[in-house]
Amino acid sequence: MKRILLIEDEKNFARFMELELQRELFQVTVAADGQSALELALNESWDLILLDLMLPIMDGIEVCKRIREVKKMPIIMITARDSVTDKVSGLDSGADDYIAKPFAIEELFARIRVVFRRLEEQQEEQRTLLVSHDLSVDVEARIVMKNGAEIELTKREYGLLETLLKFANRVLSRDELLDKVWGYDAAVDKNVVDVYVRYLRNKIDSPGQPSMIETVRGIGYVIRK
Ligand code: CA
Repeated sequence: MKRILLIEDEKNFARFMELELQRELFQVTVAADGQSALELALNESWDLILLDLMLPIMDGIEVCKRIREVKKMPIIMITARDSVTDKVSGLDSGADDYIAKPFAIEELFARIRVVFRRLEEQQEEQRTLLVSHDLSVDVEARIVMKNGAEIELTKREYGLLETLLKFANRVLSRDELLDKVWGYDAAVDKNVVDVYVRYLRNKIDSPGQPSMIETVRGIGYVIRK
């Protein structure tokens, strides 16, 4: 069940929206002012925030900006005014979409569906395609492409590359790599990691360019993105 935080100070309208959203099988929490809304937004996890523009204590634009400083969840801004300025400042403050009162509830549902669909597409993309520079890895199909050409890797080479990309920007020690790529039963020498990094570099690096896999002396390896 998806959780929605509805931030709306007009009681009757909030109640109406709450019931309609529940009818669509969303789990709804209502906040009636900017300050308490912000606390709820930041301290709990939400699938979507419906945010009224005109609110007591802190207005919707400010609430939206503050949420965006820390969180990426979808925000749809709701307002009584249908002016271009409101729309622009709403979207500038980081809202994903904007809907003006009065609106048909079906229109709001349609917008919500679009926001969720977009999010699912993004997540799908992140799952299947790990990219670094000119290299892309489709983790579902286990296909590695470099500049449009497929690179054939062995199982271990592939595992090593996928692990380094999954933990991009984090230096992984030889022990961590052994554990993640070779597994617990690997009674192998730590040097095997160095050997495989060399194999992998030979396949994925471009001649004359610095290696995609950076050696961090005394610690391990990292791919930076
Ligand atoms: Ca209001």
